[in-house]
Amino acid sequence: MVIDTLEQWWNALLDFTSKLIVPDWGALINLLPIFLLIGVVGPLLTLLVLGWFIYFVRKPRLKVAFADTRRPAELDADGIPVYPTGEPYSPRERMIYEPGATRSESGEDLLVACPKCGLVRKAADDVCGNCGLSFTLTPTTRSVRKTGPKPGGAAAA
Ligand SMILES: [Zn+2]
Repeated sequence: MVIDTLEQWWNALLDFTSKLIVPDWGALINLLPIFLLIGVVGPLLTLLVLGWFIYFVRKPRLKVAFADTRRPAELDADGIPVYPTGEPYSPRERMIYEPGATRSESGEDLLVACPKCGLVRKAADDVCGNCGLSFTLTPTTRSVRKTGPKPGGAAAA
């Protein structure tokens, strides 16, 4: 009979699922130390690793902050700010900026004193108008500029 076969299937299925759902308590109690290990030692280890992580991640960030080369200009004996040559600076802010900077935080042009002749020019200009010394403290931007063809160079040839 078809119905009998279906019943047999159904019973077998119930039997199978009940084995899955009802846990084997004996085996679970044996596993209790492992659960304790995961529940207690796990979080402790996680905290340790987290503490280590925060310690080592924050440390270099502090170093980076201290390594910022933007700094206020020192004053000489007469109270006049001293700007080292070759470094961009803002006379209004009396602030020496990091190498390669051309504009201050307020957007004004930074100045730079030529390391060769001492002439002060805009930090955005690469070449000194007085002695012709070309220098920039950002080699990457300079190489990008130099790789391009000269304006009209190819057409003129
Ligand atoms: Zn110069």
